[in-house]
Amino acid sequence: MNNCPFCKIAAGELPAAIVHRSPDVIAFRDIHPQAPTHILIVPIKHLVSVDDVQAEDVQLMGRLIATAKDIARDLGLRGYRLVINTGREAGQSVFHLHVHLLSGRALHWPPG
Ligand code: 5GP
Ligand code: ZN
Repeated sequence: MNNCPFCKIAAGELPAAIVHRSPDVIAFRDIHPQAPTHILIVPIKHLVSVDDVQAEDVQLMGRLIATAKDIARDLGLRGYRLVINTGREAGQSVFHLHVHLLSGRALHWPPG
């Protein structure tokens, strides 16, 4: 999509610290990390948010979670949190669906 930073990262047009790449999923470190480990897991396909997910995307959504699990295992994370902000009111600021993988510090509940 035009002017979408995550589409640009997926296309290699914007630099990022990439930790995983497969034909349909890319993962890279967040530019403003909120925890010692803060990785974004992103479908290559431009989906705006969870609200944009259709039946045909259900497998892809599962792959995002499985990718998060594989990254957590590869990095030896002892506990982690996956977050998908959906909509501006929930804190979404980049409108290309992504899963935050957060780890390396105490994560409080309820989240802010
Ligand atoms: P959201 O607020 O939409 O849930 O999360 C967007 C995240 O993307 C934020 O944590 C923000 O720091 C990160 N981000 C925004 N632009 C870029 C970028 O160009 N590169 C990287 N690596 N992260 C970005
Ligand atoms: Zn995009």
